[in-house]
Amino acid sequence: MTTEIAEAPVAAAPGAAGRNALAAALTQFDDATEHLGLEPDLRAVLRVPQRELTVNFPVKMDDGSVRVFSGYRVQHNVARGPAKGGLRFHPQTDLDDIRALAMWMTWKCALVDVPFGGAKGGVACDPTSMSGKELEGLTRRFTTEIEQIIGPESDIPAPDVGTNAQVMAWIMDTVSMHKGYSVPGVVTGKPLSIGGSVGRSDATGQGIMYTIDNAARRIGLDMAGASVAVQGFGNVGEATARLLHEVGAKVVAITDVGGGAYDPEGLDIPDLARRFRAYGTVAGSPSTQPIDNETLFGLDVDVLVLAALDGQITARNAGSIRARILAEGANGPTEPSADPILHRNGVIVIPDILCNAGGVIVSYFEWTQNRSALAWTRDEVNDRLRRQILSAADAVWQRAAADGITERLAAHALAVERVATATRLRGLYP
Ligand code: NAD
Repeated sequence: MTTEIAEAPVAAAPGAAGRNALAAALTQFDDATEHLGLEPDLRAVLRVPQRELTVNFPVKMDDGSVRVFSGYRVQHNVARGPAKGGLRFHPQTDLDDIRALAMWMTWKCALVDVPFGGAKGGVACDPTSMSGKELEGLTRRFTTEIEQIIGPESDIPAPDVGTNAQVMAWIMDTVSMHKGYSVPGVVTGKPLSIGGSVGRSDATGQGIMYTIDNAARRIGLDMAGASVAVQGFGNVGEATARLLHEVGAKVVAITDVGGGAYDPEGLDIPDLARRFRAYGTVAGSPSTQPIDNETLFGLDVDVLVLAALDGQITARNAGSIRARILAEGANGPTEPSADPILHRNGVIVIPDILCNAGGVIVSYFEWTQNRSALAWTRDEVNDRLRRQILSAADAVWQRAAADGITERLAAHALAVERVATATRLRGLYP
Protein backbone atom coordinates (compact mmCIF):
# COMPACT_ATOMS: atom_id res chain seq x y z
CA MET A 1 0.00 0.00 0.00
CA THR A 2 1.40 3.40 -0.94
CA THR A 3 1.61 6.19 1.54
CA GLU A 4 0.77 9.62 0.28
CA ILE A 5 0.93 12.94 2.05
CA ALA A 6 -2.67 14.10 1.91
CA GLU A 7 -2.24 17.36 3.76
CA ALA A 8 0.61 19.85 4.04
CA PRO A 9 2.21 20.15 7.49
CA VAL A 10 0.78 23.56 8.26
CA ALA A 11 -0.33 24.88 11.59
CA ALA A 12 -4.08 24.89 12.08
CA ALA A 13 -5.83 27.91 10.60
CA PRO A 14 -6.37 30.41 13.39
CA GLY A 15 -9.96 30.03 14.51
CA ALA A 16 -11.94 33.14 15.39
CA ALA A 17 -12.98 31.43 18.61
CA GLY A 18 -9.36 31.13 19.71
CA ARG A 19 -8.52 34.79 19.12
CA ASN A 20 -11.67 35.88 20.97
CA ALA A 21 -11.02 33.51 23.84
CA LEU A 22 -7.50 34.85 24.30
CA ALA A 23 -8.69 38.46 24.13
CA ALA A 24 -11.35 37.63 26.73
CA ALA A 25 -8.88 35.88 29.04
CA LEU A 26 -6.44 38.80 28.85
CA THR A 27 -9.18 41.38 29.49
CA GLN A 28 -10.32 39.46 32.57
CA PHE A 29 -6.72 39.21 33.78
CA ASP A 30 -6.09 42.93 33.20
CA ASP A 31 -9.29 43.82 35.08
CA ALA A 32 -8.21 41.66 38.02
CA THR A 33 -4.66 43.07 38.16
CA GLU A 34 -6.05 46.59 37.93
CA HIS A 35 -8.44 45.91 40.79
CA LEU A 36 -5.65 44.37 42.89
CA GLY A 37 -3.12 47.05 41.98
CA LEU A 38 -0.67 44.24 41.12
CA GLU A 39 2.91 45.34 40.53
CA PRO A 40 3.88 45.64 36.81
CA ASP A 41 6.64 42.99 36.99
CA LEU A 42 4.25 40.37 38.27
CA ARG A 43 1.61 41.37 35.73
CA ALA A 44 4.14 40.82 32.96
CA VAL A 45 5.06 37.36 34.31
CA LEU A 46 1.48 36.14 34.78
CA ARG A 47 0.12 37.57 31.52
CA VAL A 48 2.02 35.10 29.30
CA PRO A 49 2.29 31.29 29.25
CA GLN A 50 5.43 29.88 30.81
CA ARG A 51 5.89 27.17 28.19
CA GLU A 52 4.33 26.38 24.80
CA LEU A 53 4.87 23.35 22.61
CA THR A 54 3.56 23.11 19.04
CA VAL A 55 3.88 19.81 17.22
CA ASN A 56 3.03 18.83 13.64
CA PHE A 57 2.82 15.08 13.31
CA PRO A 58 1.72 12.46 10.76
CA VAL A 59 -1.03 9.88 11.26
CA LYS A 60 -1.78 6.97 8.94
CA MET A 61 -5.47 7.02 8.03
CA ASP A 62 -7.60 3.94 7.35
CA ASP A 63 -7.40 4.44 3.56
CA GLY A 64 -3.59 4.26 3.71
CA SER A 65 -3.02 7.99 3.25
CA VAL A 66 -1.05 10.07 5.75
CA ARG A 67 -2.43 13.25 7.28
CA VAL A 68 -0.41 15.77 9.21
CA PHE A 69 -2.07 17.27 12.28
CA SER A 70 -1.10 20.24 14.44
CA GLY A 71 -1.23 19.86 18.21
CA TYR A 72 -0.41 22.05 21.18
CA ARG A 73 0.37 21.86 24.88
CA VAL A 74 0.60 25.13 26.78
CA GLN A 75 1.63 25.42 30.43
CA HIS A 76 0.55 28.82 31.61
CA ASN A 77 1.84 28.78 35.18
CA VAL A 78 3.22 26.25 37.67
CA ALA A 79 3.83 28.46 40.71
CA ARG A 80 1.30 26.52 42.83
CA GLY A 81 2.03 22.99 41.57
CA PRO A 82 2.19 20.77 38.47
CA ALA A 83 0.39 22.07 35.39
CA LYS A 84 -3.15 20.70 34.99
CA GLY A 85 -5.67 20.98 32.18
CA GLY A 86 -7.66 19.21 29.53
CA LEU A 87 -6.96 18.13 25.98
CA ARG A 88 -9.29 19.33 23.23
CA PHE A 89 -9.80 17.62 19.87
CA HIS A 90 -11.69 20.14 17.73
CA PRO A 91 -11.30 21.48 14.18
CA GLN A 92 -11.02 25.11 15.33
CA THR A 93 -8.42 24.47 18.02
CA ASP A 94 -5.43 26.75 17.64
CA LEU A 95 -2.60 28.04 19.77
CA ASP A 96 -4.44 31.17 20.95
CA ASP A 97 -7.43 29.07 21.97
CA ILE A 98 -5.16 26.83 24.04
CA ARG A 99 -3.30 29.79 25.54
CA ALA A 100 -6.60 31.23 26.81
CA LEU A 101 -7.79 27.90 28.18
CA ALA A 102 -4.44 27.29 29.91
CA MET A 103 -4.60 30.69 31.61
CA TRP A 104 -8.16 30.02 32.80
CA MET A 105 -6.93 26.71 34.26
CA THR A 106 -4.32 28.54 36.35
CA TRP A 107 -7.01 30.78 37.85
CA LYS A 108 -9.49 27.90 38.28
CA CYS A 109 -7.02 25.72 40.19
CA ALA A 110 -6.04 28.65 42.40
CA LEU A 111 -9.64 29.69 43.05
CA VAL A 112 -10.75 26.24 44.21
CA ASP A 113 -7.43 25.74 45.96
CA VAL A 114 -6.13 22.58 44.33
CA PRO A 115 -2.30 22.37 44.28
CA PHE A 116 -1.93 22.73 40.52
CA GLY A 117 -0.92 25.29 37.96
CA GLY A 118 -2.70 25.71 34.64
CA ALA A 119 -2.25 24.03 31.27
CA LYS A 120 -4.28 23.03 28.23
CA GLY A 121 -3.64 21.10 25.08
CA GLY A 122 -5.34 20.21 21.88
CA VAL A 123 -5.19 18.89 18.36
CA ALA A 124 -6.86 20.57 15.40
CA CYS A 125 -8.93 17.66 14.13
CA ASP A 126 -12.53 16.52 13.80
CA PRO A 127 -12.82 13.39 15.98
CA THR A 128 -16.41 12.83 14.80
CA SER A 129 -15.18 12.13 11.27
CA MET A 130 -12.38 9.74 12.31
CA SER A 131 -12.51 6.00 12.99
CA GLY A 132 -11.55 4.60 16.41
CA LYS A 133 -8.30 3.32 14.93
CA GLU A 134 -7.41 6.70 13.46
CA LEU A 135 -8.23 8.45 16.73
CA GLU A 136 -6.09 6.00 18.68
CA GLY A 137 -3.19 6.52 16.25
CA LEU A 138 -3.52 10.29 16.51
CA THR A 139 -3.70 10.16 20.32
CA ARG A 140 -0.70 7.86 20.72
CA ARG A 141 1.46 9.86 18.31
CA PHE A 142 0.44 13.20 19.88
CA THR A 143 1.20 11.76 23.34
CA THR A 144 4.66 10.72 22.15
CA GLU A 145 5.25 14.22 20.75
CA ILE A 146 4.36 15.98 24.03
CA GLU A 147 5.69 13.28 26.38
CA GLN A 148 8.78 15.32 27.18
CA ILE A 149 6.68 17.87 29.08
CA ILE A 150 3.82 15.79 30.60
CA GLY A 151 3.96 13.51 33.65
CA PRO A 152 2.44 13.02 37.12
CA GLU A 153 4.90 15.51 38.63
CA SER A 154 4.92 18.04 35.80
CA ASP A 155 1.74 18.30 33.71
CA ILE A 156 -1.39 16.15 33.89
CA PRO A 157 -3.89 16.21 30.97
CA ALA A 158 -7.61 15.35 31.29
CA PRO A 159 -10.66 15.16 28.99
CA ASP A 160 -12.16 18.26 27.35
CA VAL A 161 -14.19 18.90 24.19
CA GLY A 162 -13.84 15.97 21.80
CA THR A 163 -11.86 13.73 24.18
CA ASN A 164 -13.03 11.21 26.77
CA ALA A 165 -11.97 8.43 29.15
CA GLN A 166 -10.88 6.19 26.23
CA VAL A 167 -8.52 8.88 24.92
CA MET A 168 -7.08 9.22 28.45
CA ALA A 169 -6.58 5.42 28.56
CA TRP A 170 -4.55 5.55 25.31
CA ILE A 171 -2.41 8.38 26.67
CA MET A 172 -1.79 6.54 29.93
CA ASP A 173 -0.92 3.35 28.04
CA THR A 174 1.44 5.11 25.63
CA VAL A 175 3.39 6.78 28.44
CA SER A 176 3.40 3.52 30.43
CA MET A 177 4.76 1.53 27.45
CA HIS A 178 7.60 4.00 27.03
CA LYS A 179 8.45 3.98 30.75
CA GLY A 180 8.17 0.21 31.11
CA TYR A 181 5.73 0.42 34.05
CA SER A 182 2.21 1.74 34.63
CA VAL A 183 1.95 5.49 35.12
CA PRO A 184 -1.71 6.06 36.07
CA GLY A 185 -1.06 9.56 37.45
CA VAL A 186 -0.06 10.99 34.05
CA VAL A 187 -3.71 11.72 33.15
CA THR A 188 -7.00 12.06 34.99
CA GLY A 189 -10.46 11.22 33.72
CA LYS A 190 -9.33 7.63 33.05
CA PRO A 191 -11.70 4.65 33.02
CA LEU A 192 -12.30 3.25 36.52
CA SER A 193 -10.58 -0.07 35.79
CA ILE A 194 -7.21 1.59 35.17
CA GLY A 195 -7.12 4.05 38.05
CA GLY A 196 -9.96 6.45 37.32
CA SER A 197 -11.96 7.91 40.18
CA VAL A 198 -15.60 7.24 40.85
CA GLY A 199 -17.53 10.42 40.22
CA ARG A 200 -15.04 11.87 37.70
CA SER A 201 -17.25 11.50 34.62
CA ASP A 202 -20.06 13.49 36.25
CA ALA A 203 -17.79 15.75 38.31
CA THR A 204 -18.06 18.90 36.21
CA GLY A 205 -21.86 18.61 36.04
CA GLN A 206 -22.01 17.78 39.75
CA GLY A 207 -20.00 20.88 40.60
CA ILE A 208 -22.20 23.02 38.34
CA MET A 209 -25.24 21.62 40.14
CA TYR A 210 -23.77 22.48 43.56
CA THR A 211 -22.89 26.05 42.54
CA ILE A 212 -26.31 26.61 40.95
CA ASP A 213 -28.06 25.31 44.06
CA ASN A 214 -25.87 27.56 46.20
CA ALA A 215 -26.65 30.65 44.08
CA ALA A 216 -30.35 29.75 44.01
CA ARG A 217 -30.50 29.59 47.83
CA ARG A 218 -29.03 33.08 47.98
CA ILE A 219 -32.02 34.45 46.06
CA GLY A 220 -34.59 32.20 47.75
CA LEU A 221 -35.07 30.01 44.68
CA ASP A 222 -35.83 26.32 45.24
CA MET A 223 -34.22 24.23 42.49
CA ALA A 224 -36.98 21.62 42.84
CA GLY A 225 -39.44 23.00 40.32
CA ALA A 226 -37.10 25.71 38.95
CA SER A 227 -36.96 26.02 35.16
CA VAL A 228 -33.67 25.48 33.33
CA ALA A 229 -32.31 25.78 29.78
CA VAL A 230 -29.02 24.14 28.78
CA GLN A 231 -26.78 24.85 25.78
CA GLY A 232 -24.65 21.79 24.98
CA PHE A 233 -25.38 18.14 25.73
CA GLY A 234 -21.91 16.59 25.90
CA ASN A 235 -19.92 15.52 28.93
CA VAL A 236 -20.78 18.69 30.86
CA GLY A 237 -24.25 19.58 29.54
CA GLU A 238 -25.71 16.08 29.74
CA ALA A 239 -24.53 15.48 33.32
CA THR A 240 -25.75 18.91 34.43
CA ALA A 241 -29.17 18.48 32.83
CA ARG A 242 -29.52 14.97 34.26
CA LEU A 243 -28.49 15.94 37.81
CA LEU A 244 -30.77 19.00 37.81
CA HIS A 245 -33.61 16.84 36.47
CA GLU A 246 -32.96 14.37 39.32
CA VAL A 247 -33.35 17.09 41.97
CA GLY A 248 -36.70 18.06 40.45
CA ALA A 249 -35.73 21.00 38.24
CA LYS A 250 -37.72 21.36 35.02
CA VAL A 251 -35.26 21.34 32.11
CA VAL A 252 -37.32 22.90 29.32
CA ALA A 253 -34.76 23.35 26.52
CA ILE A 254 -31.50 21.88 25.27
CA THR A 255 -29.46 22.75 22.20
CA ASP A 256 -26.49 20.96 20.70
CA VAL A 257 -24.47 21.17 17.50
CA GLY A 258 -27.32 19.59 15.51
CA GLY A 259 -30.21 21.77 16.78
CA GLY A 260 -32.38 21.76 19.87
CA ALA A 261 -35.38 20.38 21.75
CA TYR A 262 -37.92 22.48 23.69
CA ASP A 263 -40.87 21.51 25.85
CA PRO A 264 -42.29 24.15 28.20
CA GLU A 265 -43.65 21.32 30.40
CA GLY A 266 -40.15 19.87 30.90
CA LEU A 267 -38.04 17.50 28.79
CA ASP A 268 -37.54 13.80 29.49
CA ILE A 269 -33.76 14.00 30.06
CA PRO A 270 -32.97 10.24 30.26
CA ASP A 271 -34.84 9.77 26.99
CA LEU A 272 -32.98 12.67 25.33
CA ALA A 273 -29.68 11.20 26.54
CA ARG A 274 -30.53 7.89 24.84
CA ARG A 275 -31.44 9.77 21.69
CA PHE A 276 -28.25 11.82 21.78
CA ARG A 277 -26.19 8.63 22.10
CA ALA A 278 -27.98 7.09 19.13
CA TYR A 279 -28.12 10.11 16.77
CA GLY A 280 -25.54 12.59 18.09
CA THR A 281 -28.20 15.27 18.59
CA VAL A 282 -31.35 15.93 20.61
CA ALA A 283 -32.93 17.67 17.62
CA GLY A 284 -36.04 15.99 16.28
CA SER A 285 -36.90 14.22 19.54
CA PRO A 286 -40.57 13.15 19.60
CA SER A 287 -43.01 15.54 21.33
CA THR A 288 -40.49 18.39 21.46
CA GLN A 289 -40.34 21.62 19.50
CA PRO A 290 -37.17 22.70 17.68
CA ILE A 291 -35.21 25.56 19.23
CA ASP A 292 -32.02 27.41 18.28
CA ASN A 293 -29.32 28.88 20.51
CA GLU A 294 -30.49 32.51 20.38
CA THR A 295 -34.06 31.55 21.31
CA LEU A 296 -32.75 29.34 24.13
CA PHE A 297 -30.64 32.22 25.50
CA GLY A 298 -33.74 34.45 25.66
CA LEU A 299 -36.09 31.95 27.34
CA ASP A 300 -37.88 33.08 30.48
CA VAL A 301 -36.26 30.48 32.75
CA ASP A 302 -34.77 30.60 36.24
CA VAL A 303 -31.40 29.18 35.23
CA LEU A 304 -29.50 29.24 31.94
CA VAL A 305 -26.58 26.79 31.73
CA LEU A 306 -23.95 27.33 29.03
CA ALA A 307 -22.14 24.05 28.44
CA ALA A 308 -20.93 24.14 24.85
CA LEU A 309 -18.40 26.65 23.54
CA ASP A 310 -16.74 29.96 24.31
CA GLY A 311 -17.94 33.37 23.11
CA GLN A 312 -21.68 32.63 23.15
CA ILE A 313 -22.98 35.62 25.11
CA THR A 314 -21.86 38.94 23.68
CA ALA A 315 -22.86 42.60 23.97
CA ARG A 316 -25.30 41.87 21.13
CA ASN A 317 -27.41 39.20 22.86
CA ALA A 318 -26.69 39.74 26.59
CA GLY A 319 -29.70 42.05 26.91
CA SER A 320 -32.05 39.27 25.80
CA ILE A 321 -31.18 37.00 28.74
CA ARG A 322 -34.08 36.71 31.17
CA ALA A 323 -32.67 33.94 33.39
CA ARG A 324 -32.01 34.90 37.01
CA ILE A 325 -28.88 32.75 37.17
CA LEU A 326 -26.36 32.25 34.36
CA ALA A 327 -24.20 29.18 35.04
CA GLU A 328 -21.00 29.03 33.00
CA GLY A 329 -20.39 25.31 32.54
CA ALA A 330 -18.28 25.99 29.45
CA ASN A 331 -14.99 27.85 29.57
CA GLY A 332 -15.27 31.47 28.44
CA PRO A 333 -18.90 31.36 27.24
CA THR A 334 -19.45 35.06 28.05
CA GLU A 335 -17.43 37.80 26.38
CA PRO A 336 -16.20 40.61 28.65
CA SER A 337 -18.37 43.13 26.73
CA ALA A 338 -21.48 41.25 27.91
CA ASP A 339 -20.63 41.34 31.63
CA PRO A 340 -21.73 44.93 32.38
CA ILE A 341 -25.06 44.31 30.62
CA LEU A 342 -25.73 41.14 32.63
CA HIS A 343 -24.73 42.93 35.83
CA ARG A 344 -27.00 45.90 35.05
CA ASN A 345 -29.90 43.53 34.39
CA GLY A 346 -29.41 41.74 37.71
CA VAL A 347 -28.41 38.38 36.21
CA ILE A 348 -26.34 36.40 38.72
CA VAL A 349 -23.34 35.02 36.85
CA ILE A 350 -21.59 31.95 38.26
CA PRO A 351 -18.21 32.50 36.57
CA ASP A 352 -16.69 29.62 34.64
CA ILE A 353 -13.57 29.28 36.79
CA LEU A 354 -15.86 28.55 39.72
CA CYS A 355 -18.88 26.96 38.05
CA ASN A 356 -17.13 24.23 36.06
CA ALA A 357 -14.28 23.58 38.54
CA GLY A 358 -15.83 20.29 39.71
CA GLY A 359 -13.93 18.53 36.92
CA VAL A 360 -10.50 19.66 38.05
CA ILE A 361 -11.35 19.15 41.73
CA VAL A 362 -12.19 15.48 41.14
CA SER A 363 -9.19 15.22 38.80
CA TYR A 364 -7.12 16.30 41.79
CA PHE A 365 -8.84 13.57 43.86
CA GLU A 366 -8.06 11.02 41.13
CA TRP A 367 -4.40 12.06 41.01
CA THR A 368 -4.25 11.89 44.82
CA GLN A 369 -5.80 8.40 44.84
CA ASN A 370 -3.31 7.25 42.15
CA ARG A 371 -0.37 8.54 44.18
CA SER A 372 -1.54 6.87 47.37
CA ALA A 373 -2.91 3.72 45.62
CA LEU A 374 -6.27 4.19 47.31
CA ALA A 375 -9.83 4.17 45.95
CA TRP A 376 -12.33 6.51 47.56
CA THR A 377 -16.08 5.87 47.63
CA ARG A 378 -18.56 7.92 45.60
CA ASP A 379 -19.88 9.52 48.80
CA GLU A 380 -16.37 10.49 49.83
CA VAL A 381 -15.66 12.03 46.41
CA ASN A 382 -18.95 13.93 46.18
CA ASP A 383 -18.80 15.11 49.77
CA ARG A 384 -15.27 16.47 49.36
CA LEU A 385 -16.19 18.00 45.98
CA ARG A 386 -19.21 19.73 47.48
CA ARG A 387 -17.23 21.18 50.37
CA GLN A 388 -14.33 22.34 48.18
CA ILE A 389 -16.41 24.03 45.48
CA LEU A 390 -18.84 25.65 47.94
CA SER A 391 -15.99 27.02 50.00
CA ALA A 392 -14.70 28.72 46.82
CA ALA A 393 -18.23 29.93 46.00
CA ASP A 394 -18.56 31.51 49.45
CA ALA A 395 -15.22 33.25 48.99
CA VAL A 396 -16.38 34.64 45.63
CA TRP A 397 -19.72 35.98 46.92
CA GLN A 398 -18.03 37.49 49.99
CA ARG A 399 -15.33 39.18 47.91
CA ALA A 400 -17.89 40.50 45.42
CA ALA A 401 -19.93 41.99 48.27
CA ALA A 402 -16.92 43.34 50.17
CA ASP A 403 -15.35 45.05 47.14
CA GLY A 404 -18.62 45.95 45.39
CA ILE A 405 -17.59 44.11 42.22
CA THR A 406 -19.03 41.44 39.90
CA GLU A 407 -18.75 37.75 40.73
CA ARG A 408 -16.40 37.33 37.77
CA LEU A 409 -14.01 40.04 38.90
CA ALA A 410 -14.16 38.69 42.46
CA ALA A 411 -13.28 35.18 41.25
CA HIS A 412 -10.38 36.41 39.12
CA ALA A 413 -9.10 38.75 41.83
CA LEU A 414 -9.02 35.90 44.38
CA ALA A 415 -7.28 33.58 41.94
CA VAL A 416 -4.70 36.04 40.63
CA GLU A 417 -3.92 37.12 44.19
CA ARG A 418 -3.15 33.50 45.20
CA VAL A 419 -0.92 32.85 42.18
CA ALA A 420 0.82 36.20 42.73
CA THR A 421 1.49 35.28 46.37
CA ALA A 422 2.97 31.91 45.37
CA THR A 423 5.13 33.57 42.72
CA ARG A 424 6.42 36.22 45.15
CA LEU A 425 7.22 33.57 47.77
CA ARG A 426 9.11 31.40 45.31
CA GLY A 427 11.09 34.41 44.12
CA LEU A 428 12.93 34.89 40.88
CA TYR A 429 15.32 32.19 39.69
CA PRO A 430 18.31 32.51 39.41
P1 NAD B 1 -18.28 17.77 24.62
O1 NAD B 1 -17.51 17.69 23.35
O2 NAD B 1 -18.52 16.53 25.41
O3 NAD B 1 -19.69 18.47 24.38
C1 NAD B 1 -19.86 19.69 23.73
C2 NAD B 1 -21.34 19.89 23.45
O4 NAD B 1 -21.54 21.17 22.84
C3 NAD B 1 -21.94 18.84 22.50
O5 NAD B 1 -23.19 18.44 22.95
C4 NAD B 1 -22.10 19.61 21.19
O6 NAD B 1 -23.16 19.10 20.39
C5 NAD B 1 -22.42 20.99 21.74
N1 NAD B 1 -22.21 22.06 20.76
C6 NAD B 1 -21.17 22.24 19.92
N2 NAD B 1 -21.40 23.32 19.12
C7 NAD B 1 -22.60 23.82 19.51
C8 NAD B 1 -23.38 24.91 19.08
N3 NAD B 1 -22.97 25.71 18.09
N4 NAD B 1 -24.57 25.13 19.69
C9 NAD B 1 -25.01 24.33 20.69
N5 NAD B 1 -24.31 23.27 21.14
C10 NAD B 1 -23.12 23.03 20.55
O7 NAD B 1 -17.49 18.85 25.52
P2 NAD B 1 -17.57 19.02 27.10
O8 NAD B 1 -16.46 18.25 27.71
O9 NAD B 1 -18.96 18.83 27.56
O10 NAD B 1 -17.16 20.56 27.24
C11 NAD B 1 -18.10 21.63 27.05
C12 NAD B 1 -17.52 22.89 27.64
O11 NAD B 1 -17.24 22.68 29.03
C13 NAD B 1 -16.19 23.35 27.03
O12 NAD B 1 -16.13 24.76 27.08
C14 NAD B 1 -15.16 22.76 27.97
O13 NAD B 1 -13.92 23.43 27.93
C15 NAD B 1 -15.86 22.96 29.29
N6 NAD B 1 -15.39 22.11 30.39
C16 NAD B 1 -15.34 20.75 30.26
C17 NAD B 1 -14.94 19.99 31.35
C18 NAD B 1 -14.96 18.49 31.31
O14 NAD B 1 -14.76 17.86 32.37
N7 NAD B 1 -15.21 17.85 30.18
C19 NAD B 1 -14.55 20.60 32.55
C20 NAD B 1 -14.61 22.00 32.64
C21 NAD B 1 -15.04 22.73 31.55
